[in-house]
Amino acid sequence: MNSNKSVLIIFTGGTISMMRDPQTGALTPADINQFREFMPELFHSDINVDMLPFDPLIDSSDMNPPIWSKLANIIYDNYSKYDGFVITHGTDTMAYTASALSFMLENLCKPVVLTGSQLPVGVLRSDAKENLLTAIEIAAEQDEEGNAVVPEVCIFFEAKLYRGNRCTKKNSEHFAAFKSYNYDPLAVAGVHIHYFQHLIHYGDINKPLRLRTKIDQNVAILKLFPGISEKTVKAILGIEGLRAVVLETYGSGNAPSDKWLFEALQDAVKRGIIIVDKTQCLMGSVELGRYETSLHLLEAGVLSGYDITTEALLTKLMYLLGENGDDTDEVRRLLQIDLCGEMTID
Ligand code: ASP
Repeated sequence: MNSNKSVLIIFTGGTISMMRDPQTGALTPADINQFREFMPELFHSDINVDMLPFDPLIDSSDMNPPIWSKLANIIYDNYSKYDGFVITHGTDTMAYTASALSFMLENLCKPVVLTGSQLPVGVLRSDAKENLLTAIEIAAEQDEEGNAVVPEVCIFFEAKLYRGNRCTKKNSEHFAAFKSYNYDPLAVAGVHIHYFQHLIHYGDINKPLRLRTKIDQNVAILKLFPGISEKTVKAILGIEGLRAVVLETYGSGNAPSDKWLFEALQDAVKRGIIIVDKTQCLMGSVELGRYETSLHLLEAGVLSGYDITTEALLTKLMYLLGENGDDTDEVRRLLQIDLCGEMTID
């Protein structure tokens, strides 16, 4: 039962709230009032809904760390007033925002559900209504003791609820835009919403919500490919002020065995740069040392990213570097720990 529940919807933008510009033909952020027009259902359910629109609404390509921080602050400031939160967001960078928020909102015990759509709300075949209405229902869902059923940062899209920091945008055309490759959905919505409790993370309700919004953006992604040159690798590892690198490797975390690559990585680690191995595969985990072609990474001081997504690893690095300042050892230690369900360590 959801009666007397209240949910705050924070509208950031994205296709869900866009309209076609008659001049250019391109989809552009529109006026939030169209929601009142196209989705009168929002105000006629037994869940009280308040709306907090960004002004202006943005395409999620323009999302950035200060806006993640703004979102986390809005949730923090309104935490006691609402049973749950829904964030409407463009799909392009939704997985980054969900990952960042999962680290920024420590001890979260209420649902924060991100959703959006592939077609604008005003389009007849739009997936906006279904996604938004179900996200609101999930955000308000409580058990008999009045505790949230899914007290996590999640993404709800096309009938599935995923852990936010496990998601990747996989399709720019299909309604099923997201997938959580290494972790099963937390819930599936059909006629009823089925929650898989054994997969849901429950925080300690006795601990207060803590805001962790310090971010260090001195990070980079280095994607390996056959033929990558020494010049390219050294240029990236030589970026001034660089503190951490997501090293996108092959298979179970393998890299070319060139001596120059080993030396470049080892030199960067010695200079205090944290390098984390993230496989380019969508499923499966990094296993450093399984093949000879990853043993040298281990020797160079590269850390394992296990089965984390690039989105979660990048935002975890930004968050850990921001919160821990110059304490690189502590950042390295925390990178090897599952903080909020973002990775599985066997
Ligand atoms: N470009 C849009 C955005 O991410 C795409 C979407 O919403 O699906 O804001």
